[in-house]
Amino acid sequence: EEEGLRRFRDVVPKAADGTVIEVAANIGSLEEIQAAKEAGAMGVGLFRTELLFMKHGGLPSEDMQYEIYAEAARAFAPHPVIIRTLDIGGDKPVSGIAFPPEQNPFLGWRGVRMCLDRPDIFKPQLKALLRAAAHGAVKVMLPMVSTLEEVRRTRALIDECAGELAAAGVPFRRFPLGVMIETPAAVLVAAALAREVDFFSIGTNDLTQYVMAADRMNPQVAALNDVANPAVLAAIELTASAGRAAGIMVGMCGEAAARPDLIPVFVRMGLTELSMSPASIPRAKKCIVEAAPAAGRPS
Ligand code: PEP
Ligand code: MG
Repeated sequence: EEEGLRRFRDVVPKAADGTVIEVAANIGSLEEIQAAKEAGAMGVGLFRTELLFMKHGGLPSEDMQYEIYAEAARAFAPHPVIIRTLDIGGDKPVSGIAFPPEQNPFLGWRGVRMCLDRPDIFKPQLKALLRAAAHGAVKVMLPMVSTLEEVRRTRALIDECAGELAAAGVPFRRFPLGVMIETPAAVLVAAALAREVDFFSIGTNDLTQYVMAADRMNPQVAALNDVANPAVLAAIELTASAGRAAGIMVGMCGEAAARPDLIPVFVRMGLTELSMSPASIPRAKKCIVEAAPAAGRPS
């Protein structure tokens, strides 16, 4: 089995119509880069930056973040590295950020909501990302987006950061900006969001819990917390068609992106990027190839 999968590692898998499907890695630190490359990752589809913040025991400086993001970008260039801005909330403590106690942390002050309220935390990250983008194909995505306004306010903050870097003579480059689609609100306004962002990445872990109103951590509702539920698949299809209509890339970075039974469904819906833990990559490539044999097998 392992041996059989290895030959898929360097394959560039394609959908039946010949479209390349990027099979990328989810990582949380630079240590995972090597494993991702060895598994055949065609870039990074989700760099969870909150792990840097949680491990650091204090807020990492702009310079420290810049070094880390730049190293990831260089390691995968010319492949894209999609870096997600800080996604923390009351359930994931970070020293240096005071989270008021909440009844429902998964419905609370987290992700982009928290970042927009704390420019003292958000701006150093955005500046580090602008600087790192000069070293490779950095793309940036926002977690927990539920309104168009969150995207517009983030863009304004990025402009402010770029202005400050330019004034200080610090080299940087603008990056493509995307959003995670992981709230029902984002799905329902996907057509409008697609006109203002460069890509979507569907976060099925959270999207499933919010569409089904079933806590992803509670085993008693695990049966409802099912990405293959028709309601969740309908949300994914709506997102895919809104993205297709606007001509932007639609990918997926939740756990479901690695499911052999669902990969052919997602590819048929028009998703062109699937991001997952490195260990799942060879098998995912095999699934894509086997679902569209005419598009090419490894020699
Ligand atoms: C998701 O919600 O599907 C996702 C990829 O993000 P996280 O698991 O970090 O919440
Ligand atoms: Mg999420």
